[in-house]
Amino acid sequence: MTQLLETRRRRTFAIISHPDAGKTTLTEKLLLFGGAIQMAGSVKSRKAARHATSDWMALEKERGISVTSSVMQFPYEDRVINLLDTPGHADFSEDTYRVLTAVDSALMVIDCAKGVEERTIKLMEVCRLRDTPIITFINKLDREGRSPIELLDEVESVLGIQCAPVTWPIGMGSRLKGVYHLLTNEVHLYEPGRNFTRQDSTIFTGLDHPELRRRLGDMYDELREELELVLGASNPFDRDAYLAGKQTPVFFGSAVNNFGVQPLLDAFVENAPGPLARATTSRVISPDETKLTGFVFKIQANMDPMHRDRVAFMRICSGKFTAGMKAFHVRTRKEMKLANALTFMASDRELVETAWPGDVIGIHNHGTISIGDTFTEGENLSFTGIPNFAPELFRRARLRDPLKIKQLQKGLAQLSEEGATQFFRPLMSNDLILGAVGVLQFDVVAYRLKDEYGVDCLFETIGVVTARWVHGEDEKKLAEFREKNASFLSLDAAGELVYLAPTRVNLQLAIERAPAIRFAATREHA
Ligand code: GDP
Repeated sequence: MTQLLETRRRRTFAIISHPDAGKTTLTEKLLLFGGAIQMAGSVKSRKAARHATSDWMALEKERGISVTSSVMQFPYEDRVINLLDTPGHADFSEDTYRVLTAVDSALMVIDCAKGVEERTIKLMEVCRLRDTPIITFINKLDREGRSPIELLDEVESVLGIQCAPVTWPIGMGSRLKGVYHLLTNEVHLYEPGRNFTRQDSTIFTGLDHPELRRRLGDMYDELREELELVLGASNPFDRDAYLAGKQTPVFFGSAVNNFGVQPLLDAFVENAPGPLARATTSRVISPDETKLTGFVFKIQANMDPMHRDRVAFMRICSGKFTAGMKAFHVRTRKEMKLANALTFMASDRELVETAWPGDVIGIHNHGTISIGDTFTEGENLSFTGIPNFAPELFRRARLRDPLKIKQLQKGLAQLSEEGATQFFRPLMSNDLILGAVGVLQFDVVAYRLKDEYGVDCLFETIGVVTARWVHGEDEKKLAEFREKNASFLSLDAAGELVYLAPTRVNLQLAIERAPAIRFAATREHA
């Protein structure tokens, strides 16, 4: 019974947006509404650090905060909200994608002047893979932006999802007067410096109030006309279509002014799905099952540089977690004690003893846990759909001090576990090659190698354009392929065979010449 209630109360989501649309500001407001006030400042300081990419030091210093706040749990009304942070910089996109596998819904923030931007498009593609329900918040209404109708059209045509406006702006920029709520028939007036709570806002029910007419002035008639048009032309909110990922309810507001955030949050807790059932290699797991299951979607290495430990972030999919319990680590087939697991209450610093479906716990380990790993209470199954992305950039590590080769290998292997970079050792040389999706990753790794492993190294460009994981059912054919193509083959950190192609043409030829061999663009999670 408790489990059912606790599960139904959970809302686990992430915010997706293009940088600068207002994700950090909105996160802060949500935490404030949830009463997790002391956390709010740290969102900002972390953001500042994140932007100082030239000064990686700053980010390091902030790590203590960023770790505990990559998951933020806070209560709102009778719900428990888990907000999973998605890293902000474009270079961290892989991490972001995997975070999206651990949520049940997403909140999309769009800048009203910029509309749909490139990173939003990419993130939306990822959400679409699992039909993740999305609520849209069109932000910065206090600035001049594009017309609301044009913005909705753009979301529909570029992102391919139907829009259902739930709030509608009354003016914009210097003419911003408020929003009209299409479902509750309320007008929320925009009052800079206020609007923090319902009590702190001026709200009219219905459009006929003389005082409302007076406050809106010449905008009043404009609003009535526009609403007629909008109500006639737009789709009404349909919760099933939203839950199926086919329709997005749209809210307008200004996060920095608290404006429009409360209607958004209210609709979110009301309509967003609680923990959903999830597919595994053998069956679908319902969150109501009493045995614990979960999967790891993120690893963070060296949170405490003194101890070289790593924290694996596990999303609980069913059952109940209790501190110190044992769980079955499916990949290694070993029982593992989940001691000292971290939980992530944004408002409450006490160690929490239990966690429920939808929650995230952090498990300390020394490299035994990998991204994509499943934990159960003994059943042999694995959650599917945790993506691994193919690196697009490759560099060779060059040591300044050749005696540090062992440390370099260890550092590259351990940092690769976090999933943002991948590490390759060619069969035919002693090179150490790093693959990444974004170029900033090489600076990050070089910095962390120095700071955490005492290794001074450079990354130089090499002639590799793409990687393919090589598989073959036929042992003999695979051995033959390995022999013939040894100069292009490497082993990744897990010892899997990888073809590093110097050109696309070379890869194409290799594929044509070896029909018995399967070339996979990503490393597969078992
Ligand atoms: P993020 O990169 O998506 O996390 O964006 P931030 O939350 O850091 O916001 C980017 C910039 O937009 C910051 O300077 C914010 O103060 C500003 N901003 C956020 N929300 C609003 C808003 O509603 N109106 C205006 N005018 N600026 C905003």
